[in-house]
Amino acid sequence: MLRCPNCNTHDLGKVGSNQFYCWGCFIELTLENGKVASIYQVEEDGTLSSLNDLFLDSSQDSLSM
Ligand SMILES: [Zn+2]
Repeated sequence: MLRCPNCNTHDLGKVGSNQFYCWGCFIELTLENGKVASIYQVEEDGTLSSLNDLFLDSSQDSLSM
């Protein structure tokens, strides 16, 4: 089952055919072929900020610091 990559909750609401919204941390996920392809944070004014660099970076070592 799909989990939020940020807070790991299953509490995701479907907002489009391939789009889900996390009620835990207010980010929007776009899926491609059943995998998360894009992640956006929804700002208070409704704009979307890409979080792809944070969660979809090919290197998993970026947390070490
Ligand atoms: Zn979340």
